[in-house]
Amino acid sequence: MLDIRQIPVLNDNYVYLVREPSSGAVAVVDPAVSDEILAEAKRLDWRITHILNTHHHGDHVGGNQAIKAATGCTIVGPAHDPDRIPGMEIQVKDGDIYKFGNESAQVFFVPGHTRGHIAYWFKDSSALFCGDTMFSIGCGRLFEGTPQQMWTSLSRLRGLPPETRIYCAHEYTESNVRFAVSVDPDNAALRSYEAEVKTKRAQKIPTVPSTLKLERAANPFLRADAPDLQAAMAMTGRDPVEVFAEVRRRKDVF
Ligand code: ZN
Ligand code: FE
Repeated sequence: MLDIRQIPVLNDNYVYLVREPSSGAVAVVDPAVSDEILAEAKRLDWRITHILNTHHHGDHVGGNQAIKAATGCTIVGPAHDPDRIPGMEIQVKDGDIYKFGNESAQVFFVPGHTRGHIAYWFKDSSALFCGDTMFSIGCGRLFEGTPQQMWTSLSRLRGLPPETRIYCAHEYTESNVRFAVSVDPDNAALRSYEAEVKTKRAQKIPTVPSTLKLERAANPFLRADAPDLQAAMAMTGRDPVEVFAEVRRRKDVF
């Protein structure tokens, strides 16, 4: 099993330090910054061997070069976005199985937030690192993709096992829940999660990782084909892509 440490940085980013104990391999997932990550690795006495990037945004690759310079680690990122990942040496694409110590990550191409975004699924540890594609009760903004692309991407991630833990890159859950109850007010799973999130955030406890089981029940961006959400939005029987686009539009102006 991977040993996963969550490091909150900047306003609301999470960077992950991931260690595969039998080999000692240590990856940083989406290093927004370098100093805090290097300090935490040192404190843990973990030697960073890899960086795994999901997409090119500065709050996901900002620490790449300095961490590489300090550790000599290998930078892995999306083949779907060859020119925008600083220092990328290993390009992975949809369907690839990337060996990491004695575990491996299956790569999903999940365009929508950016045109080259990927996610890493560590099957044996039930862990999904999905960057800014899926958040707890949310999804990334469509900066470079269409609703069709993002719905397809989220639908693929939705098909992973329900026990999968969702290691997303931002703590946006509280505001996402505030929006979600506006479109899906009678969703019991969402309402009970709303209470849990309020309690946790009042004590500054992370809500991430969540589980896919919870997201499937409560995240409106994964439920565009659910009859009860469609009814709540007065869109019964409509194409899920249209419903997804409408949920995203409402969130953008919320
Ligand atoms: Zn981003
Ligand atoms: Fe981000």
